[in-house]
Amino acid sequence: MPPVLANYYLTYKCNSRCTYCDIPVKPENIPVKEVEPHIVVENLKALKRLGVRIVDFTGGEPLIYRHLPQVLAEAKQLGFLTSLANTGTLYPTVAHKIKGLVDDLKFSLSTTESQAYKLERGIDAFEKVVESIKLAKSLGELPSIIATATPETIWGMEKVVKLAQKLDVLVLLGPIFDYCDNELLHRQGIAEIERLSKLDNVCVNRAFIHFYMSGGNQTTSPRCRAVSSTIVISPDDKLLLPCYHMHNDKLQIEHKDNRSNLDELWHSHIVQEKRKMEGSWKFCQGCTIWCYFETSFLWPPDKYFWLNLQSKARWAQQRFGQYLRAKLSNLKYDIRTSVGR
Ligand code: SF4
Ligand code: SF4
Repeated sequence: MPPVLANYYLTYKCNSRCTYCDIPVKPENIPVKEVEPHIVVENLKALKRLGVRIVDFTGGEPLIYRHLPQVLAEAKQLGFLTSLANTGTLYPTVAHKIKGLVDDLKFSLSTTESQAYKLERGIDAFEKVVESIKLAKSLGELPSIIATATPETIWGMEKVVKLAQKLDVLVLLGPIFDYCDNELLHRQGIAEIERLSKLDNVCVNRAFIHFYMSGGNQTTSPRCRAVSSTIVISPDDKLLLPCYHMHNDKLQIEHKDNRSNLDELWHSHIVQEKRKMEGSWKFCQGCTIWCYFETSFLWPPDKYFWLNLQSKARWAQQRFGQYLRAKLSNLKYDIRTSVGR
């Protein structure tokens, strides 16, 4: 099976400072410069040759990358499914330029309290995020909220769900994963996620919850398929191996005659050797870095494979409902305005 997903880090810069993330402040990330858009486009063409289907543009705050509209348009033109997670703090500045270019537009939000938002994210922007979600909806997008449950935020999560229901957007709810020495969610917190997962508009990946509670990846029988399933590209044009979070290799991507060698690089001996090792390094013990397991669970049909499929089916069903409601509401609006003319 070819890799399914590319996690394309367009920038490591971010205007937030979340307590559970070191991306914008990590010393090795600070000097990293973003590449010109034609380099990204050449890599997108190489990803296409590799058979990748989904490109998740990420960061840092990907909206900081000033050529974002151009690279999203190229990605759509090449036939990729596009995904973009952002904070919502900069969305109004690009919303019209990226309208219709993102298939899966996500806003991160884990609380409905302004003060708690500020404490978690180091920036006072709760109201702005809500306004951004409303703006996305008014532009005809189908946005979702990504809600990360920490031991601090879990008990306010029901209010996030209520807000999502009011805005009629989905909530992709999951527990904080083990990175930056984060305190993981305890058993009562997981039970609360399971309770909330039954409510309207809530999508919880049950494969992840089971995996999380079983202690994550085990190096003796690795479940991780990070290298096989996901291609990770850094803002300065390097292929990161085995994953962004624990990369111990950065391979420079070469460009010649307007062509990227990313596909050849992926087939190279060094990458294929890494594939054989995925999930079995010492640092992989207990790993629950969700960015890689959703696609890893597309590999052999064990219980995680089936639970992942079930969760995807619920997500698709909820999203279809959201789509129909949005269409109906637009239709009612059109009828009202034409009657009022
Ligand atoms: S918004 Fe994202 S990249 Fe920025 S600090 Fe928070 S988690 Fe990290
Ligand atoms: S188990 Fe975790 S740390 Fe190891 S390669 Fe997979 S995603 Fe990276």
